[in-house]
Amino acid sequence: MERPIGEVIRNRFKDDLVRGVVLTDGLIGTFVSADDLQANRCFLYHLIGNGTGQWRVPEGGMGALVTELKRVALAAGVEILIDTRVVKIDSDRSGVSVATLSGEKFTARDLLFAGAPQTLATIRGEAKPELLEGSQMKINMLLSHLPRLKSAIDPKLAFAGTFHVNESYSQLESAYRSAKSGNIPSDLPLEMYCHTLTDPTILSPELRDKGYQTLTLFGLHTPASLFDKSPDEMKSSAKKAAIESLNQYLLDPIESVLAQGQDGALAIEVKSPLDLENEIGLPRGNIFHRDLDFPFIDSSGADLIWGSETADPHIYLAGAGARRGGGVSGIAGHNAAMAVLAND
Ligand SMILES: Cc1cc2nc3c(=O)[nH]c(=O)nc-3n(C[C@H](O)[C@H](O)[C@H](O)COP(=O)(O)OP(=O)(O)OC[C@H]3O[C@@H](n4cnc5c(N)ncnc54)[C@H](O)[C@@H]3O)c2cc1C
Repeated sequence: MERPIGEVIRNRFKDDLVRGVVLTDGLIGTFVSADDLQANRCFLYHLIGNGTGQWRVPEGGMGALVTELKRVALAAGVEILIDTRVVKIDSDRSGVSVATLSGEKFTARDLLFAGAPQTLATIRGEAKPELLEGSQMKINMLLSHLPRLKSAIDPKLAFAGTFHVNESYSQLESAYRSAKSGNIPSDLPLEMYCHTLTDPTILSPELRDKGYQTLTLFGLHTPASLFDKSPDEMKSSAKKAAIESLNQYLLDPIESVLAQGQDGALAIEVKSPLDLENEIGLPRGNIFHRDLDFPFIDSSGADLIWGSETADPHIYLAGAGARRGGGVSGIAGHNAAMAVLAND
């Protein structure tokens, strides 16, 4: 909690590769060096799950989770409005009013806000809290089959769990330095997940029978600021760097196993941190909504009880930006609801 994780890793492990594999959980979506305490927080959040650090894939994909949440919410009498942008939030001693772009207005005693704290500040016309920029590029792919590896290991073994590419400790630190000086790192550190090996049901039976697989790639140390000047050009350079980095280890280059759409286009999509800001409202592409913090409340957070409170007594953070938020845990929404109930 108090010493940089880089220092702990260097003291504990000798091997550069082992050091790097340990460090990566501290760098997901987090643009810092191993010696910045922010990496410690990111590391903790990635190892806290299920009490053992075990990562899971929702059966049926994230869509199945959303469908179930929707079913339960509707059964409980919740009204859901989609494609409805909130443009104004006012509050006074008695409660809150919310105005939408289409001119509707809603009033209530309390508001549970499940967007980023920076978004809330913008809507309220307040100063935005400071935030580290997001630093990951994401590539989603559909493959006609898994590629063979130069190492000759069975692809089904290699792509189960997390597949690390160019993520030794020295490669991660050098990638950080290179991105910090404004360049896309060569030997770009990547990690990949093949969700269909864990849960084939996320594909249609037809694609499953044909042996298709999904592959999602997470490129580290590609901060939003790299893309600011020329977003499209930098995105294609970052895509090229990611593919080159991956292909170093593949016998079948990844392009040769990409599925094709009916129009002949290859089934690959690339998202930079700027895309994540434009398309799903993540400020500067920060996947956690705000800089992660330790989950316990110390003296600096004396006003927090549930971690969802804001400066306004009627507005609560119910999403990833709450203290103890930052991922798909459901904790922030639960805590915001508990904070409201505690005020009854
Ligand atoms: C590439 C990537 C990989 C990730 N991997 C993982 C992982 O493996 N495990 C994990 O636990 N987490 C992961 N995360 C983080 C996880 O996705 C988030 O923590 C989670 O989605 C946050 O949920 P949320 O409901 O708080 O916010 P969001 O899912 O961000 O939803 C907020 C919603 O608010 C909407 N909104 C914003 N402004 C307005 C407005 N003015 N009016 C109306 N609506 C608005 C947005 O459009 C959005 O739909 C990842 C994130 C990314 C981007």
